[in-house]
Amino acid sequence: KYLEQSNHLASNDWSQENYPWSNKIRENLQSVFKIQTFRSQQLETINVTMSKIDVILVAPTGCGKSLCFQLPAITEAGVTLVVSPLISLMEDQLHGLRKKGISAELLSMSTDSETVNRIHRFLNDADLSNKLKLLYVTPERMAKSKRLMSALQKCYQKEMLERIAIDEVHCCSILGHDFRPDYKYLGTLKSLFPKIPIIGVTATASRRVIIDVQKMLNIRGCLVLNAPFNRPNLFYGVIEKPNENDAVYDLLSNLLKIRYKNKSGIIYTFSIKDTETLVSELLQRDCKVRAYHASLEANQRSKVYQKWMMNEIQAVVATIAFGLGIDKPDVRFVIHHVMSKSIENFYQETGRCGRDGKYAESVLLYKLGDIFKISTMTFVETNGLQNAYSMVGYCINGKNCRRDIFSKFFTEVWSDKNCGKMCDHCSFNSRSRKIMPPVTNITSHYRTLLRIIENARGMDIKLTALKLVDAWFHKGPTKLRLEISPPAIDRNLGEQIVAFLIINHFLEEDFHYTAYNTISYIKKGSKSTQDEIDYQPSRICELPLVTELEDIFNASHSRSYDEEPESHLSHATKKQRIFIDDTDSLNDSF
Ligand code: ADP
Ligand code: MG
Ligand code: ZN
Repeated sequence: KYLEQSNHLASNDWSQENYPWSNKIRENLQSVFKIQTFRSQQLETINVTMSKIDVILVAPTGCGKSLCFQLPAITEAGVTLVVSPLISLMEDQLHGLRKKGISAELLSMSTDSETVNRIHRFLNDADLSNKLKLLYVTPERMAKSKRLMSALQKCYQKEMLERIAIDEVHCCSILGHDFRPDYKYLGTLKSLFPKIPIIGVTATASRRVIIDVQKMLNIRGCLVLNAPFNRPNLFYGVIEKPNENDAVYDLLSNLLKIRYKNKSGIIYTFSIKDTETLVSELLQRDCKVRAYHASLEANQRSKVYQKWMMNEIQAVVATIAFGLGIDKPDVRFVIHHVMSKSIENFYQETGRCGRDGKYAESVLLYKLGDIFKISTMTFVETNGLQNAYSMVGYCINGKNCRRDIFSKFFTEVWSDKNCGKMCDHCSFNSRSRKIMPPVTNITSHYRTLLRIIENARGMDIKLTALKLVDAWFHKGPTKLRLEISPPAIDRNLGEQIVAFLIINHFLEEDFHYTAYNTISYIKKGSKSTQDEIDYQPSRICELPLVTELEDIFNASHSRSYDEEPESHLSHATKKQRIFIDDTDSLNDSF
């Protein structure tokens, strides 16, 4: 049933301007918002929601998702309800709307009673309803205030509730990276207000999350519109992370002081403790950095943010708490000191640089040991391990364009042709600086590793991945080594092979709790096979010079951010998608 209805919606051309509302929408766009042209998928989204059809718009941050519910709101007679997770985001929008003379209100847990009463009068009184255009509400308020729900119902009965917009709609899904428990109450909206169209907007494009959101909101099979996700101005690279901490700090401080001299950026790391350590080490090396994490006090955090906005500090060293709502156009680099816990998180985090459309870089520091920092934390989460392994796949991927990995993971269709040499693999390939290492048959290595594990097990010893690699390369306790010579390969390649075997389940992690933490041991995996196993080694090497990369970028992308590169148009043809809840789509790893 969903499929039939959905296919019909998806095959419609929503970019027409011959709807009853089209003229009015154009007029308001220009006179109220002072905008001349729609960006990708804005017009389509507006037409769908004005047709009273449920829709989810997936579009990158900063591309104007709010307009898709604000413009309909001021064009129609009644009230648009907007649910959003962050008060600061709502306050910004409110401020912007009021400056344009649009009447908008905000209702949160801390709104004073006078304002609450005024808002309820708007909703309850038929004559007043047309005076309020947008009502912003926190999900907490929705969940906890019966009085609000009753007022909304009155408004609905008078046919003055026009639309429900849910900003950052991925917060509904426990599978997303920002799950908000109070968002789950939004699941009742569809049955309370069956005639009211829901519009959800988000920058999270994972198919799995979108399907989950549709289920949560009771709008299964609704139309999903995708604006292009490729960020052509971002260069993606992975570099090898030294094993010695001091070497890592030196590497980071060199990046800040040389490669990113006078440029603004973010360093993401794993834990609060890591941010503090990194900051103190980098300060000792004369870098201008500050820490940002969830356990700082609110005013401390906003101080750090302000200083960074004013370029008084070069980089914020942050946990993922530094996220929603960052709006600095000239962020030139995002460094990942530790990989993210999923590709989705990673894409969101890297997406914070280069908002102004100019050249910017994402650099990730990878080493084998970091996998277990992530996996021991996430293996208890739904899909936690699968997400972590996708991220590892990005790091050790040897043959594909980095963008290719994103496009396989997300819903969009683009290929390495859209990369424009803006990732380490494509840029190296193009200039053949280094020859691609050959695909290697790693079957015998795998057998050796299994024998080492078996041998240790005979002595009642469990091996962590690092101990396993040590024994393989004849380091560490002699009794763990086999009586064959160590492999004739670089240790770095050896570590890559172990990571590859783990993420493909030829080897598996075996998690054990101690009083203080969780340890990952390595055991034989469920996919253990007699077949031959091939591996394409990754070629993690130095980054090209920024100036070279900037030249490459500027030569091929002398367009502004608002224009879509033509190459993109031809590849991203499937912008209107329908996600049906099938088991196939749930296995969307690669
Ligand atoms: P998002 O929610 O997608 O991150 P916002 O809705 O906050 O983005 O919009 C970001 C900025 O883009 C705002 O300043 C908005 O006014 C502007 N904007 C929106 N649509 C357009 C457009 N068609 N042309 C120019 N600017 C636009
Ligand atoms: Mg937004
Ligand atoms: Zn590439």
